[in-house]
Amino acid sequence: MLEEQTCLVTGSSRGIGRGIAEELGRHGADVVVNYRSSEGAAHEAVDAIEDEGGTAIAVQGNVAEYDEVQAMCEEIHDAFGRVDVLVNNAGITVDKKFQNMTREDWDRVIQVNLGGVFNCTHCLFDDVKASDTGRLINISSVVGQQGNYGQANYATTKSGLFGFTRTLALELAASGSTANCVAPGFVETDMLEEVPERVQQKILDRIPLNRFATVDDIAGIVRFVASKDSSYMTGQILAANGGMEW
Ligand code: NAP
Repeated sequence: MLEEQTCLVTGSSRGIGRGIAEELGRHGADVVVNYRSSEGAAHEAVDAIEDEGGTAIAVQGNVAEYDEVQAMCEEIHDAFGRVDVLVNNAGITVDKKFQNMTREDWDRVIQVNLGGVFNCTHCLFDDVKASDTGRLINISSVVGQQGNYGQANYATTKSGLFGFTRTLALELAASGSTANCVAPGFVETDMLEEVPERVQQKILDRIPLNRFATVDDIAGIVRFVASKDSSYMTGQILAANGGMEW
């Protein structure tokens, strides 16, 4: 399904990114597993993809640093020649009530969640545009749609991806390449583990399907968006949140 496609998934040593990387590898893509510091986990992700017959490499790079992203792209070009599918997944939270949030807390989240998206998309724009099956896929969040107590910085970055995605959809359209957002609800990963159990229960009470998403719930949607089956869909937000209203 994704044969002869090279897919870069940022932040894919763990969590949702890892699930996406494995899913794309399982469907025939050449996968680049990017990580910031979890080297061992990134190599485990590569091994998991190869164990299922896929092809993958691990590439270190902090997406918030333009120079590191440029170096990462050179490494990818040396290995695979080009990138057809860019999944901007890497993201962080630094949660605090707004009154307690420092300018540093604000900047840290903006630099990774939006700065990282700028850096990767900017460095790979020509690749995605030139590909017959170019796909830009940005991982947003239900929090970008609804806001969330204690997440002013994070919610701002995740809403920002909507305007970014729609604009890139327009700028890529003439080439036939597409840009879309996937907006997960709350997913069982390390990021959710950081949320106190009492708050997790409150969130659960607001989810009609009455469970958190698994990584696989999100990875399957990204695989569809990455595939030829989504060719006529661009500038969209695919929400996968268990039926949460927004
Ligand atoms: P996670 O379990 O905390 O994993 C984060 C991943 O991003 C790790 O692979 C980490 O690499 C990487 N990363 C973080 N900062 C990076 C940087 N500066 N450069 C490169 N890689 C970096 O997070 P997750 O829950 O899977 O979330 C993944 C994405 O989904 C995020 O954009 C998040 O906002 C979004 N999302 C998550 C949820 C949820 O409930 N979990 C819901 C909606 C949307 P290292 O291992 O090297 O640190």
